[in-house]
Amino acid sequence: MMDIAANIASIRQRIGAACRRAGRCPAEVRLIAVSKVKPAEQIDAAFASGQQLFGESYVQEFRDKSSAVKSPVEWHFLGGLQSNKVKYLRGRVAMIHSVDRISLAEEISRQWQKIDQPINVLLQVNIGEEKQKSGCLLGNLETLVRTVAELPRIQICGLMCLPPHADDAEEVRPYFRRMRDLAGEIKQLQLPGVSMAELSMGMSGDFEVAVEEGATLVRVGTAIFGERIKKG
Ligand SMILES: *Cc1c(COP(=O)(O)O)cnc(C)c1O
Repeated sequence: MMDIAANIASIRQRIGAACRRAGRCPAEVRLIAVSKVKPAEQIDAAFASGQQLFGESYVQEFRDKSSAVKSPVEWHFLGGLQSNKVKYLRGRVAMIHSVDRISLAEEISRQWQKIDQPINVLLQVNIGEEKQKSGCLLGNLETLVRTVAELPRIQICGLMCLPPHADDAEEVRPYFRRMRDLAGEIKQLQLPGVSMAELSMGMSGDFEVAVEEGATLVRVGTAIFGERIKKG
């Protein structure tokens, strides 16, 4: 049996240490417990140990599980998203991290207009410009920002990335640094309603490096809940 509470405590300590190394305040960094593929009971257990924020990546699974979780958790949606499934997230998530194209943003805007509520989103950047990966390419980012910023009910809060895989977290550092620079460049455009306060980056293998480079949201799954059985 995984000791979820102990894992979370240890990750929080490591985030704190990374903040001290970088001269940052630990309160600037929020830990998202990525609970995809894990049962509702483990989410309730993590909540009982003080973890409030959870991330999910599959719409169908999220629909089923969010009804089964008893604790008043805050949900973020992290995964690849088809426009026709956005309606299942409506009103149930506080933030969507994976907005990488205009058509998807338009559908999110449409759905949240129906409930007359704002939705916080991050723009996902394909920072390694990898062929098979989702995320906006760097050359399209400014157009995406400008277009999404005009849509009703959508609030752009920052950027998210899934950098190229590397066994050594140090190899990922330049991508995290580039993300921070990109956020700075967008901020300089001073677009109304666009904030670059959030940088969602860092997972189990590299969250400390991400924190050192400015992450404000780290998404940690395996290091909290243990290995996942791969989904189809
Ligand atoms: C699964 C997932 C994570 C967590 O990955 P771990 O390596 O298990 O920490 C983070 N971000 C996204 C988008 C994911 O899909």
